Amino acid sequence: MKLEIKEIQSKSILIKSKLPDADYVLNPYTGCSFGCIYCYASFMSRYVGKQIEDWGNFVYVKANAPDLLVKEMPKISPNLKILLSSVTDPYQSIEAKYKITQKCLQFFADQNATQKISILTKSPLVTRDINILKDIKNTEVGLTITTTDDDISRYFEKNAPDASARLKALTELNKAGIKTYAFVGPLLPHYVESDKNLDDLFKQIKSTGTTDLYIEHINLRKYILNRLKNEAKDINEQTLEKYYQSQSKEYMKNLNQKIEKLVKKYNFNLRLGSAIYHNK
Ligand code: SF4
Repeated sequence: MKLEIKEIQSKSILIKSKLPDADYVLNPYTGCSFGCIYCYASFMSRYVGKQIEDWGNFVYVKANAPDLLVKEMPKISPNLKILLSSVTDPYQSIEAKYKITQKCLQFFADQNATQKISILTKSPLVTRDINILKDIKNTEVGLTITTTDDDISRYFEKNAPDASARLKALTELNKAGIKTYAFVGPLLPHYVESDKNLDDLFKQIKSTGTTDLYIEHINLRKYILNRLKNEAKDINEQTLEKYYQSQSKEYMKNLNQKIEKLVKKYNFNLRLGSAIYHNK
């Protein structure tokens, strides 16, 4: 399906966050062409007159985002944390053309912003902006890595860059001296069955030089589960069943124990102290 792209004027750009580890969020785009089939942000479709099933097929470019920052940043306390993004990927493919994320980062660098500017993406395009990132006082870049198997990432994260490309991006950022973290979320269902796969994931992240992790259990709210069922029609039923069960107490306890061992084994700093859990 052809990606619908439209430039829009947003009313505001810095939004107060309800996330556990961010004070404000900055989403340079509405919609996300990466179209991950587990994406919790698919609810955003409804805000622009689309259906959940349309998620991944449209991106609206907030063309005035850098101008809005000029107005809104003076109101933000100097020691708060701003996350790019929360309901889109700031380095999805059209960022290469529109450069909205890059312009926002340039603003933070030019203004000597003291707020912590935290980026989370699935794309190695973030390495394009290493020189700007170096000029920001307090910044960090996270890469979402849910698997080390490119076929699995292709399946669940339809149009996102391969997992191997993300691991390489983390290595490059670390070599450039940028503070990094990995976001392992959501934990995919096969991990509870395969200790080796989970160990390999932690080992490969560690080998990039990254020391900090966030880990997140899958969010299976009804709208996400429905989309997953629709999109994952060809996945074998047993694996899908694991998804449905993946918030049962037994399943989570088992996975949490494995995670604790691996965090210790590879000496990671697990941010927030434990895996993030979403209440259904
Ligand atoms: S990259 Fe993030 S925002 Fe984009 S579809 Fe995937 S999970 Fe959703």
